[in-house]
Amino acid sequence: MTMRFGVIGTGAIGREHIKRISNKLAGGKIVAVTDVNQASAEDTLETFGLDATVYPDDKTLLADPTVDAVLVTSWGPAHEASVLAAIEAKKYVFVEKPLATTAEGCMRIVEAEIKHGKRLVQVGFMRRYDSGYVQLKEAIENKFIGEPLMIRAAHRNPEVGENYTTDMAIHDTLIHEIDVLHWLVNDDYKTVQVTYPKKSKHAHENLKDPQIVTLETEGGIVMSAEINVNCKYGYDIQCEVIGEEGVVSLPEFQSISFRKNAMFGTNVLMDWKDRFIDAYDKELQDFMDSIKLTGEPNGPTSWDGYIAAVTADAAIKAQNSGEKEQISLKEKPAFYNKQTEAVNA
Ligand code: NAP
Repeated sequence: MTMRFGVIGTGAIGREHIKRISNKLAGGKIVAVTDVNQASAEDTLETFGLDATVYPDDKTLLADPTVDAVLVTSWGPAHEASVLAAIEAKKYVFVEKPLATTAEGCMRIVEAEIKHGKRLVQVGFMRRYDSGYVQLKEAIENKFIGEPLMIRAAHRNPEVGENYTTDMAIHDTLIHEIDVLHWLVNDDYKTVQVTYPKKSKHAHENLKDPQIVTLETEGGIVMSAEINVNCKYGYDIQCEVIGEEGVVSLPEFQSISFRKNAMFGTNVLMDWKDRFIDAYDKELQDFMDSIKLTGEPNGPTSWDGYIAAVTADAAIKAQNSGEKEQISLKEKPAFYNKQTEAVNA
């Protein structure tokens, strides 16, 4: 059965998802779109050859009985209202990060979903579908390196614009490490601290860059994540897990190697969209497949969205205080205890 999607927010990533559902993935179709910028929503019909209805807002789109599921790809502050309205309308939701911009907002979604009685929501933390991270998780779970003790991660972008602020390093950049690192080791965060090395001359006047974020888990694993958004040379994601018996690392991006002008080398990506393209495909395919198979999505949950929000808030506090800050999560509801392995990973 084809899953009929309504899209709330037809900006950059909304369009990427429309394209992959329409042209690449199996089992989905876009039947409705909306955006605060009505012209943008209308434009998707011609751009992607959609046979879809353009609605003035999320509420009218959700009232369409032909819509089975929605993609919430509007800007972050609008996510919570759209997700709550979708749960109220008993529709499945794939929501891009953030689930909501506050921990309280995420909890409202958690409570609404629990009240509904079965999972409806998947959050777009696509790294869990990246084959490199999946291999790391398998190695950790198979005890290939014994107990994990430490993780060293790096998130490097070639450059950022003048509008990128110091706290965006947490909300927009680190947020993906926040989600994937605790998932890798199946542990909860306990504390976070942020330190600032010597500032890069490429960082604009008001931006602190690079930053080192140290996360400690309840189980005692210490993770250091370098955020370095003006590294110039490329978009580079690194992750090394150090265990009692060995070390496993994220594979390098696959590219040809070259020998030229007395050099031996390979290419480094410059655009973040290219790095996780397969993971974006897999997360949405899994969303459709698991709902068809089990009646529920199988990927990152509303609770994962809540963990990310609480951890990001504590990291922002740590940016400002320079101190080690506590990450205080509420008790995980049993509703979310099912394993969230990727069906298609
Ligand atoms: P974008 O290009 O600015 O697109 C957002 C779109 O939503 C714009 O067309 C915007 O209209 C519209 N919008 C704003 N409020 C709305 C509302 N209340 N109802 C309907 N439409 C609304 O941003 P983007 O880059 O696509 O990002 C969208 C979301 O995806 C963000 O939350 C972002 O963090 C997330 N994201 C995730 C990843 C990832 O790696 N998983 C990557 C990129 C983005 P206006 O332009 O008129 O404001």
